[in-house]
Amino acid sequence: MVNFVGAGPGAEDLITVRGQKLIENADVIIYAGSLVNPALLQSAKENCRIYNSAYMTLEEVIAVMEEAEVKGQMTVRLHTGDPAIYGAIREQMDELEKREITYAVCPGVSSLFGAAASLRAEYTLPEVSQSVIITRAEGRTPVPEKEKLSELAGHQATMILFLSSGLSGKVKEELLEGGYAPDTPVAVVYKATWPEEKILYTTIEKLPEDMKREEIHKTALIVVGHVLGDTYAKSKLYDATFTTEFREASRK
Ligand code: SAH
Repeated sequence: MVNFVGAGPGAEDLITVRGQKLIENADVIIYAGSLVNPALLQSAKENCRIYNSAYMTLEEVIAVMEEAEVKGQMTVRLHTGDPAIYGAIREQMDELEKREITYAVCPGVSSLFGAAASLRAEYTLPEVSQSVIITRAEGRTPVPEKEKLSELAGHQATMILFLSSGLSGKVKEELLEGGYAPDTPVAVVYKATWPEEKILYTTIEKLPEDMKREEIHKTALIVVGHVLGDTYAKSKLYDATFTTEFREASRK
C-alpha cells in the first residue's frame, strides 16, 4: 500500500495527526527533499528506508514503491503542503493503478494557508473578494491560454501565485495588462512557517524590484489583492441585525 501524505507548509508540527501516524508506520518513505522539512523524518521507524525524490525520476519513484509492495511493505510518499496542489501525484497514482497497487491520499496544510496564517490575512472578505484564484505564471511548464494571468486578472479576486517567484517581472506585466491598478497590495511570503520565513509587503508596480532587493527568488508565494488592504464589510453571520439558522436578530 502507498500513502500520499501532505507534509504541510514547513513547520514540522503542521502535519496532520493522520499523516504523522503514517510516517511512524512506514517501511519506506519517499520525500520531496526540496521542500519537505527533514525533521518530519525523525519519527520514522529505525529500519525505514528513506529516499529523496529530488534526485529521482517518476520511473525510479514507482520502482521503489513497486519493490516495497512485493515485500508487503507500506510506503509513504511525502509531498509538501497538500499533495493536490502542484503535487504531481496524478501521474504516480495512474502508474500504481496500472500495477494494481492500492493507495490513499492524506491531505496536508497547503503553503497557501500557511502563508495566510503568517500574514494574519483572510483571503475572502465581504465586499472585497469572495473568491481565491490559485495559479502560477507560465515558466517551463505551460499554462493553458485561457488561464493566462492577464485573463484571470479581470476578476480581481484574491490571487495566490505558486511557482512564480523567479518570474516577478512577468507577473507584474501580466497583472497590469489584465487591468489591476499598479498600487494594488501584494504580499510575498518566503518559506511560510519555517524558521527562516520572510514577509514582504509591496505593490504590483514595485514587486520585481522589492523581491530582487530582498533576494527572494524561490520557495515563495505571491498573494495579490485588496484583502491585504484596510477596507472591507463585516460578515452577515455575526451581524446583530441578521437572523441565521441558529440565532434570532437581536437588533433591528
Ligand atoms: N503542494 C504544495 C505546493 C508545491 S509547488 C502546497 O500545497 O503548498 C511548490 C511551490 O509552492 C513553491 O514554488 C512555492 O511557490 C510554494 N511553497 C511551498 N512551500 C512554501 C512555503 N513554506 N512558503 C511559501 N511558498 C511555498
